[in-house]
Amino acid sequence: MALTQTALVLVSYGGQGMVELESGERINCKYRRSVGRPYCGDRVDIQRADEQSAVVSRIHSRENVFVRADARKRKRVIAANLDQALIIIAPRPEPSRDLVERYLVAIHSLGIEPVIVINKTELLLEQSYDSKSPLGRLADYQKLAYQVLHTSCKTEPGILGLESILENKTSILIGQSGVGKSSLANELLPDLALQTGSLSNATGKGIHTTTTTIMYSIPAGGRLIDSPGVWEYGLWEMDAEELANGFVEFEPFMGHCKFNDCQHDHEPQCAIREAVESGDLLPWRYDSYIRLLRQRG
Ligand code: GDP
Ligand code: ZN
Repeated sequence: MALTQTALVLVSYGGQGMVELESGERINCKYRRSVGRPYCGDRVDIQRADEQSAVVSRIHSRENVFVRADARKRKRVIAANLDQALIIIAPRPEPSRDLVERYLVAIHSLGIEPVIVINKTELLLEQSYDSKSPLGRLADYQKLAYQVLHTSCKTEPGILGLESILENKTSILIGQSGVGKSSLANELLPDLALQTGSLSNATGKGIHTTTTTIMYSIPAGGRLIDSPGVWEYGLWEMDAEELANGFVEFEPFMGHCKFNDCQHDHEPQCAIREAVESGDLLPWRYDSYIRLLRQRG
């Protein structure tokens, strides 16, 4: 009987993937139809066939799955067992009004922690932002207890603070194209090309980093998941409750509306709207909620 070992799936495609054993050793694994196809980030049991290869014999239960929406707004799993998602925004390209709220709603619905990162922060000094821009709302995000971190790949403060946020956690960087996700990944992973190369070589196939989800090891500790084009199609279909749950500060008022199925829009005696009127909730966040509610579908 072959020895069973536990392992972490670093990359998964088709009928096979690359896993890392507790010793740090990486080997190629084949999947069995009866066991199923693990995702990047899955913990699995493997049984070794020989020096170079093994078979996945069990997929451990998942703490969460990170999904993206496909072109038809259906959920597609891209990775499992994440701790947090870093929302990367930058002065250029400037984020649209509700972009951060969209990300926050999605991340909260996945049950993982969001962190807001302003990259290219040296460009912030060039312009001032009002509360119509996410960049003018940073103090409000902090008041809502979100971690807000400033980084720059060009100058000070560099990626100071980012490593400690990522330490011993599994994280994913999300954000629009051009905000600096690859630049940040390159700063965090000086051996990025090497890691990608080793994953490709061991499988005997080149990895298409433009389409494949890959888990990298951060030298200072922690893992970084790189998944191209996460949420390029926007969000998946969502009901009003899932949406409202993404606005964390609404929580104390939830369940106090007149109607059980209140969407906090035009309904009478809505506890959320009353809280906005009495100044207990930020009006711009409520406005954002309403816009997202009406844009669904
Ligand atoms: P991605 O599409 O999110 O992966 O973004 P990239 O990492 O490709 O970066 C897009 C552009 O922004 C590149 O030209 C980078 O050199 C530039 N960039 C990245 N980080 C910074 C930064 O902190 N400051 C400035 N000024 N430019 C940056
Ligand atoms: Zn309500």
